[in-house]
Order: sequence, then structure tokens, then C-alpha cells
Amino acid sequence: MMRFILALVLAMPAFAADLDRAPAAFAYQNSKAIYVDFLSAEYNLTYDVTARTASVAAKIRFLAPEAGYPIFDLASNTVSNVTLDGAASSMQTLTSPDGASTMRTLASAVAAGEHVMMLDVPLATLVAWDNGGVNSATWLSDLSDRGYLERYMPANMEFDRVPMTFNVKFVGATKKQIIYANGDMSLLADGRTQIRFPSYFTSSSLYFHTVPEGVMAETRFSFRSIDGRELPVVIYLKPSILGGAEGTLATLKTETINILNELEGDYGPFLHPSVTIYNAGSGGMEYMGATMTSRSALGHELTHSYFARGMIPANGNAGWVDEAIASWRDEGYQRGGAFSGGANMAGRAQYVRYTDRQAYTYGEKFMRDLDNLFADKGGLKSLLREIVEKKAFEPFTTEDFISWAEGHYRVSLQQIFQQRVYRNALEEGMKSKPAESVHHQKLSLEQLHDLL
Ligand SMILES: [Zn+2]
Repeated sequence: MMRFILALVLAMPAFAADLDRAPAAFAYQNSKAIYVDFLSAEYNLTYDVTARTASVAAKIRFLAPEAGYPIFDLASNTVSNVTLDGAASSMQTLTSPDGASTMRTLASAVAAGEHVMMLDVPLATLVAWDNGGVNSATWLSDLSDRGYLERYMPANMEFDRVPMTFNVKFVGATKKQIIYANGDMSLLADGRTQIRFPSYFTSSSLYFHTVPEGVMAETRFSFRSIDGRELPVVIYLKPSILGGAEGTLATLKTETINILNELEGDYGPFLHPSVTIYNAGSGGMEYMGATMTSRSALGHELTHSYFARGMIPANGNAGWVDEAIASWRDEGYQRGGAFSGGANMAGRAQYVRYTDRQAYTYGEKFMRDLDNLFADKGGLKSLLREIVEKKAFEPFTTEDFISWAEGHYRVSLQQIFQQRVYRNALEEGMKSKPAESVHHQKLSLEQLHDLL
């Protein structure tokens, strides 16, 4: 009995509650497709500079809460050496019942309990061979289906926090490779670089970019947080042939310090142990304590280190919240103003995995409206500050956000949210065309490739 109890305790995933935020299992091949809890993910990246090939060998330990076909995702169709618990298997494609998303599973169902999946996949997306080295990044997008880590390697959905490790090996590189990442980096005895990402990271959190030494100009300094920590900051960019990198880096440094001070003043200590900023132009994308961003989007993207990559959406129907908040800040935290109608940002298909773009416009106005509604209770910022303090790194749904707001302001908000974020705008006869955000231009892989 003791041994049984001990085994159960050891098998307890770090964040078992994550599965509470998973979409519902669904019928599949006389059984069902089930969402699982990734217990750990080890990704072995090999860049063969001589052969100009790169690949990822992945090993994933997961817990199946019930019997069924385990769901994960991986964009690439080209996989090899797929195994499940040591036996050969294969990867299958499946579509969610509502047709909103495409995912992967394995050729056979698993019993409830712990399992190990392994597979190899070529790494071809955002890889450029150059100068006896390689430029490669695992940049993500929240504006399209399958835009997170699954673009590159097998990953779980956004609801799941997974302790992830990268072991990175460069073969035949004639130059030293520099790695920018938001994890703990160390050199292994066999020469590989190991990056251990915090255990609360999800498929939308991780930042990884490698370039040959000398490709980027950078500035490194430390930011003193209000809680006394000295946070290491790196800001880097690709110097133009016209020069001016040092001046730009100095400006970005000043702006970063100002923005971090502002955010800490509003929402408390920065949530992450380091700050990584790639000034690449062309809008931006947020990661945990990291961003690839234009200078004009810097404030927006760093705000996302609190909202989006601090307070983390568990699914595509929750993604509007952080864009609405960050846009509200972009517009100077305005209170109130003309506002009507609704936008179905939270009540789309259950399995949808990307953010509704009305968040930038309609969502921003909704935040102004909420701020006005609770003006005598500290406004919206008092709620956001509490959420950052108490709910950081707990993947949330829109329904969680409503319940947190109701708890904070001690008032029922069901009706307001029903009207504002669940009602179908088309039925309302107000067919608003989602605007392209200046901060989140939807970059194609070709455009991203140019930024490597
Ligand atoms: Zn944004």
C-alpha cells in the first residue's frame, strides 16, 4: 500500500489542474481523442552546418487522464522513429469536431496513466545556413492555428504547463553560435548547450534564437526590480550597413528601463527572471520575459510579459483579454467613452486556438468601459494588479477572468460579458472588420525568415 501511495505521489504532475482548462475529449476511431498532461518535454536540437540539415529528437512524458488517443500537435508531416512506450508507432492527423483546428495523435490508444512518446522531426522552418553557422529561431504567432511551438516540434496545447528542455548541438560550425533564450543556459560535458525553461512555460512561452557570433549587435545590463532583484537584460539587433546600432541600442535601453518602471509601478514586480529583446522591426510578438519587436511596439510587447505571458490564456477564446489590456495601455488607459454592441471574441468554436483580432479595437474599448464602470473601486487596474499578484502563470479562460472580476468587484458580471464578448456581432448587425494591429502584424514565414 505504501509503495502504491508513493508511486501515485511520484506520478503527480506538477500542474495537474491544467487539464481542467483543456478542451473536451471527443469521439475518434471507436474510442476517443483525449487531451493529456505533458509531464516533461526534452527536445534535442541538432544543427549540422556542414550538411545544412537540422532536426529535433523529442522525448515527451505525458499523463493520460483516461484511455484514448493522446492529442498533441506538430505542424510538420515528416516525422520518423515515432515510438510510444518503446514500441514503434506513427503519427495521425485529426480535426476537432467543430472543424476549428487540426491536431495530431498516435496510431494507437493509450491506457490511463503515464506514457512516453518519442519522435524525430526535421527542423526546416526559420532555419537559414550562413557564414559557417546557422540562423534559427522558434518564433511563434497567436494569430493563426498551429502557430506556437508545434510549428517546430511536438507540443501540447496552450492550457498545459510543461517543464521543457532544449539540448542544442552544432556540428561543423566554424563560428561560435550565440543563443538568445528565456531559459537557464548551461554547457553540458559533451559540448551541447542545455536550456532549461521554467516549469510554468506553455507552448506559447518559449523564446529561442541562435545566430553566428558577430551577426547581432547587443547591449547587456541589469534592471533593478522594485523587489530588489537585478534582472539581466539583453537587447539585440542586426546592425544596418549604415551603422547607428549603438545609438539605437542606447535609446532602446532607456525606453526599456522607463517601460519596466512604469509596468512595475502599475502591476508590481516584473514576473520573469530576465528580459530578452530582439529589435527586429515589423511589429512584435511576445514571449515570457522576451519579445521580438519594433521600437514602437516595445511598450505593448513588454506589457504582454504581464498579460499574455504572465497571466496566460488557456485557449484561443481567452486570447482577446491580453490584447485588449495591452491595447488599452497603448491608448493611454482611457476611461469610458462611447461604446456599444458586442464582439464574439470569447464564444467562438470551442477548439479555436488563436486570438480574435477584434481584441485590439472592440476589446480595447471594452477595457475603457470596465475601467469606467469600476472607477469608484480603483478602476480596472486594481483588478489587473490583483490578478498579476495571485494568478500569474495559471492558464485562464475567459470564464476565469469573469469570475476573478466578480470576486474582486463583488458584483455579477455575467450579463455584461454575455453582451460584450460572447454575442455574435453579425447577429447584432454590426459587422466590424477586425483591424490589422500595428503591434501584431501577421508576419508570414517568409517575412520572419528575413528577420533571422
Ligand atoms: Zn499584443
